[in-house]
Amino acid sequence: MVNIDKLLRSNIKKLSPYSTARDEYDGDIGVFLDANENSFGSIPEGNYNRYPDPHQTVLKKRIAEIKKINRNKIFIGNGSDEAIDLLYRAFCEPGKDSAIIMPPTYGMYKVAAEINNVKIKEVPLTQSFDIDVDNLIATIDSSVKLIFICSPNNPSGNLLNRDAIIKTLSFFNGIVVIDEAYIDFAKSKSWIYSQEKFNNLVVLQTFSKAWGLANIRAGLAIADEKIISIFNKIKYPYNINGLTQQLVLTALNYTEKKEKVVNKIISEREKLRKELLRFNFVKHVFYSDANFLLVSVKEANNVYDFLLQNKIIVRNRSNMINCNECLRFTVGTEEENKRLIETLSKYEKIK
Ligand SMILES: *Cc1c(COP(=O)(O)O)cnc(C)c1O
Repeated sequence: MVNIDKLLRSNIKKLSPYSTARDEYDGDIGVFLDANENSFGSIPEGNYNRYPDPHQTVLKKRIAEIKKINRNKIFIGNGSDEAIDLLYRAFCEPGKDSAIIMPPTYGMYKVAAEINNVKIKEVPLTQSFDIDVDNLIATIDSSVKLIFICSPNNPSGNLLNRDAIIKTLSFFNGIVVIDEAYIDFAKSKSWIYSQEKFNNLVVLQTFSKAWGLANIRAGLAIADEKIISIFNKIKYPYNINGLTQQLVLTALNYTEKKEKVVNKIISEREKLRKELLRFNFVKHVFYSDANFLLVSVKEANNVYDFLLQNKIIVRNRSNMINCNECLRFTVGTEEENKRLIETLSKYEKIK
């Protein structure tokens, strides 16, 4: 077991959090004259004059039921990006502590570290985009407080090796973060249930991808109650607005629909893979457990520019390590994928 208290920054350990007016009374009915809201309300489209529930009680209860985990192990953030930021703020002393990331990977781990003046150590994934576990373990020193593992990884799309992750979890005395933004598209099961075994594991999930709710900004962190209570202490009191809480609650009634869409995206992904492989400028399409494909092409900049001229916007990942001449295509609707393939056919003809 990792001693979480010992890992905490001392100012955070000592912090007494802001107490909201609503923390003193949790009933629904009453004359609320405690929070200096506007009791008259404002617009006819709905009642937005009251502060939202700072603890997202109803929503957490529902998520806990669905995922069959204790609700005290759930943190809801303004996207999973909020949880990434909170991890640095809770565990990393600016200018002193560090975190390990494994590029090529999601950009926010590094940006959030830089904002918090936390040093980043990079342990690149291997050429086949898996964890270089010996190098990872050799890089851990007393300054390292966080290790970010993105699985399925963005931008490569693959799940990372389970044994390497278990080795990391068992060896490391800091926090291991597994970002599962794309887990619904993968064959493997989530790490959230391994949290019972490893109290230093924080799993990130999001409503932005499989759930199709990127616009409303809601992400989850699932971890030991101790870690979640620290997040709750340092988050903005009303970090999840009322509309978002309501909408996520509604979305959770459409689990079957979500699963259908996920299956559709997976079948479109595999269709797209086959079609891409027919072009002679496409060198390789990487295996994907996500809703996008990393594709190695000849002259990535030219392909990228041609698509852009035709108002098809993809991501050029050529500058990332081991992603030389690679583009990342998000799987679109059937129509969108068809347009992509037609435009690439045009590109091939003029080449
Ligand atoms: C898209 C993505 C997220 C989602 O971030 P939100 O802030 O929840 O929208 C998280 N991690 C990775 C690796 C992603 O690609």
